[in-house]
Amino acid sequence: MEQTLVLIKPSGVIRCLIGDIIARFQHKGLIIAGLKMMQLDEKILREHYAHLVDRPFFPDLLNSMMRTPVIAMCIKGVDAVNVVRTMTGATNGRKAAPGTIRGDFSMSGQENIVHASDSVENALIEINRFFSEGEIFDYTDNTFKYLYAPDEV
Ligand code: UDP
Ligand code: MG
Repeated sequence: MEQTLVLIKPSGVIRCLIGDIIARFQHKGLIIAGLKMMQLDEKILREHYAHLVDRPFFPDLLNSMMRTPVIAMCIKGVDAVNVVRTMTGATNGRKAAPGTIRGDFSMSGQENIVHASDSVENALIEINRFFSEGEIFDYTDNTFKYLYAPDEV
């Protein structure tokens, strides 16, 4: 089953949205396979946002992402990468659809509350970046019959 990486960014932590965001994923039927609080540093952020290091806003993004600890989650489900990206919404909170996390909680293109992996390939890389093997748990096999039809899993 697919897994994806979600970060509740400092903009979500400082605005006391940790519980709301975790609840959205759980209420959807996604499974929390890993969860922890971490203080990010420049090294991990340069890796994580390698596609953005040359952009003019990168120093601001670095500062923003180090302002408080983040919550890292490994979230599991059928098509989890796409489902979570859809729930996250467009990058800019002012353009994100209502009902999405960014659409409901953000007015910003930077302070946009959550990160979510954008492909299955990147999800694997990002989960390995933020979690070690012993921090991902597999405890939910007997719940699948309540979440999916037999031919979906
Ligand atoms: N970002 C920004 N300004 C921009 C574009 C992106 O500050 O013009 C930040 C924003 O926090 C975004 C992150 O950089 O979430 C990663 O950008 P990406 O294009 O990967 O968007 P995402 O995948 O987060 O929607
Ligand atoms: Mg991205």
